[in-house]
Amino acid sequence: MKYGSASTNLLRYVSPTDEKNFRDPLSSILPWELAFDVDGVVADTMAVFVEVVKERLGMDHFSKDHIREYDLSRCLPNVKREVIDELICLVLSDEYTLKIPPCPGASEFLRKFSNYAPLRFVTARVWPESVTRWLHNLLPDVPKEAIQVIATGDPNKKSSILRDMKVKVFVEDRWDTCLKLHTEGFGVIVYDQPWNRKGSDFPRVFNWYELEEFILWP
Ligand SMILES: [Mg+2]
Repeated sequence: MKYGSASTNLLRYVSPTDEKNFRDPLSSILPWELAFDVDGVVADTMAVFVEVVKERLGMDHFSKDHIREYDLSRCLPNVKREVIDELICLVLSDEYTLKIPPCPGASEFLRKFSNYAPLRFVTARVWPESVTRWLHNLLPDVPKEAIQVIATGDPNKKSSILRDMKVKVFVEDRWDTCLKLHTEGFGVIVYDQPWNRKGSDFPRVFNWYELEEFILWP
């Protein structure tokens, strides 16, 4: 695992007078420095996509391991793009979003995390409502006002939102977004998924129990 270059980039956001106090944000993240993507990180959204593909297209052999690309049409080359788009819309609908299982350890981690900092989620979904409701269901004992969801509608808009929120480190599953955020000076932790195994540039977690190791709990 190598992520020295990520922390070097982060130096760009430290003024010269602060440099002596510089702390590698990826070795010990303070809760209020961290924010999360939703789909593929907190929510195992592709588990529902796989079920929908099996159900609607009769492709019983299809599994999450077949999703090696973020572009789903490349994972299902024999299925028309319009059909895939319809299935994606279905999965992102209010009804199906509520069926999405959480990624392992997410609810325990987020419940603990909420004792130290607000939970901040930045998603490229267009609408925040269904996923916000999903998070409220996942975390019934976390006050609703402690859960903030921002829907950018575009993964490329995440960096400006994160900068405004003063976030230093982001947990993300889309490889291109990881690269962009890194280039713009953010620390990145990749949430492992079959579609993001493209390199070892960033620290990688396989579940939320591992993410806990990165946090400096105050
Ligand atoms: Mg995602």
